[in-house]
Amino acid sequence: MTSAPQLSFDVQLNANGRTPAEREQVLANPGFGQTFTDHMISIDYTEGRGWHDAALLPYGPLTLDPATSVFHYAQEFFEGLKAYRQGADSIVSFRPYANAARFNQSAQRMAMPDLPEQTFVESLELLVQTDRDWVPTTEGHSLYLRPFMIATQVGLGVNYPSKTYKYLVIASPAASYFSGGVTPVSVWLSTEYTRAAPGGTGYAKCGGNYAGAFVAQRQAVAQGCDQVVWLDAHEHRWVEEMGGMNLFFVRGDRLFTPELTGTLLPGITRDSILTLAADLGLKAEEGRISIEEWQSACESGEISEVFACGTAAVVTPVGSVKGTDRAWTIGDGTPGPVTLRVREELVGIQYGSRPDTHDWIHKI
Ligand code: PMP
Repeated sequence: MTSAPQLSFDVQLNANGRTPAEREQVLANPGFGQTFTDHMISIDYTEGRGWHDAALLPYGPLTLDPATSVFHYAQEFFEGLKAYRQGADSIVSFRPYANAARFNQSAQRMAMPDLPEQTFVESLELLVQTDRDWVPTTEGHSLYLRPFMIATQVGLGVNYPSKTYKYLVIASPAASYFSGGVTPVSVWLSTEYTRAAPGGTGYAKCGGNYAGAFVAQRQAVAQGCDQVVWLDAHEHRWVEEMGGMNLFFVRGDRLFTPELTGTLLPGITRDSILTLAADLGLKAEEGRISIEEWQSACESGEISEVFACGTAAVVTPVGSVKGTDRAWTIGDGTPGPVTLRVREELVGIQYGSRPDTHDWIHKI
């Protein structure tokens, strides 16, 4: 953990925030990432001076010069985590220091400055405490938090990273991903496009990884699938991850997930499930799996379930797989018992109905 910062936040409350009635209207049907709370966090960075001008501000537009570096060279990255209500009076987040550590891994890859982990967590606490009435009370809903950093230097010189940056946090009430119950997704094996190559930015949560993925996501939808599965850049055979989720395969009492090769995002849900496996009497393994093995092991029944996991989707069963020259169903295409048990355990810890034996819950 980086040392405690000396920053204190200037608090400017929003005099034009939404009324309680307007807020309740949003909370009745929040969707995902559509509506934002009344405040945001902003902290500036200048080379040689460090982080300064930390503030809680009314939520609103930024004014940036059209030549600002982030618009041209995409020097930016982000994080995603949630605040949950545990009963009427308690609000918590899940492993925020893990997001703080991944935030700084992304920063290093993008040649951007570290933010002290303590400042990252304090900024989330201040925003959630200020906008606590925006944390949904409906079961399965949460407040999605989006910390991000952008390069703010003005100029088109491409040879050096920016000398100035802005860190921001915005928050958005989120409905349950499973509004219609736990529904399996269908996935498309992308062999035409690659998300990440060795030495690239796959393990960083930079916007460019997502911009380059949209064309494949559009192709997946055109193929009648919900999501893309990314394969390795060399052979287009080895399974890596999905557009916004990591993958797990269930073989008897073993959970298997692709190893972190540097080309996939080290998901915090993935890491938590690897730990939870032992609590559930399951063995957890990381390694390589090819699409041929995935198909044949499903056909032989050796792999009985596959699920995707991430902050937004929690744990989502994968029901069927399609590629240019192959297609198959996983199990009978319905959510399997191991998937449902893993999901129940994780959600139980997040919402407080299961004990937090790993010290993952952070009170806000
Ligand atoms: N992979 C990608 C590409 C993602 O965008 C995400 C979402 N952050 C994940 C995996 C899952 O990560 P986490 O469990 O930390 O949300």
